[in-house]
Amino acid sequence: MSDDRVLLVTGGSRGIGAAVCLGAAGAGWRVAVNYATNAQAAEDVVRRISASGGCAIAVQGDVGTEDGVQAIFAAVDAAFGSLDGLVNNAGIVGPPQRIVEISPERLERMFRVNVTGALRCSAEAVLRMSTRRGGRGGSIVNLSSVAAVLGAPEQYVDYAASKGAIDSLTVGLAREVAGEGIRVNAVRPGIIDTEIHASGGLPDRARDLSPSIPMQRPGTPGEVADAILYLLSDKATYVTGAILNVSGGR
Ligand code: NAP
Repeated sequence: MSDDRVLLVTGGSRGIGAAVCLGAAGAGWRVAVNYATNAQAAEDVVRRISASGGCAIAVQGDVGTEDGVQAIFAAVDAAFGSLDGLVNNAGIVGPPQRIVEISPERLERMFRVNVTGALRCSAEAVLRMSTRRGGRGGSIVNLSSVAAVLGAPEQYVDYAASKGAIDSLTVGLAREVAGEGIRVNAVRPGIIDTEIHASGGLPDRARDLSPSIPMQRPGTPGEVADAILYLLSDKATYVTGAILNVSGGR
């Protein structure tokens, strides 16, 4: 069981991340709910966990900056003193643009948050989890996307490329730390009904794309969270380097 184990979920305040936090707390994990700007949303998740007898803290920090990453891990260290699980969930999209319209500034931010953030958080987690460094092992789950495979032409090839990097990170890091008690896996969500689509200027994207999804509907944050919770759990002790599509067949 996961009792008393500590889990950090980047971007845990809304959408898929919030569903992971709530599900993990229900499974006995103590949870650090990271957010970047919306403290209210993070506090709401913490309140819901506390109300059902779980243990959680809200942790501010932008994973797209080194200061943010350091602040997040310092807060986790101070509150819990150990770390057993990391979900690299924080991620951003941009409005639909062809590559010639994508600004260098957008590109730089996209890769800093989606790629560098996941790499830096993984490194800080390995420092704390590695059995070679006195840790007790652990599990990392990365949020990729089916966009990594489909490429998101005419929408956001920059985002798709950032998720392709997450796939490479997952495979490489899994092999690098397999002998240190750490498993590394990823999920590739398809179209999931969250606010990320509105943040990219397409609030109806999940509904509009439903006919193109083999299962004819978007997924829910809870359906993605269930796959992540499995990969984090002791049900998956021989699973590492895996990338699981959670996409309704998309
Ligand atoms: P969402 O609803 O937009 O929520 C994003 C979460 O990430 C929020 O908690 C947000 O916190 C946080 N966040 C954003 N930028 C951050 C930063 N720089 N540092 C720390 N936290 C940050 O997103 P979602 O749809 O749940 O997506 C979660 C992950 O799944 C992302 O990696 C996304 O790429 C991936 N994914 C989603 C879909 C989909 O259809 N929804 C499909 C494939 C993959 P604040 O509110 O404080 O900014």
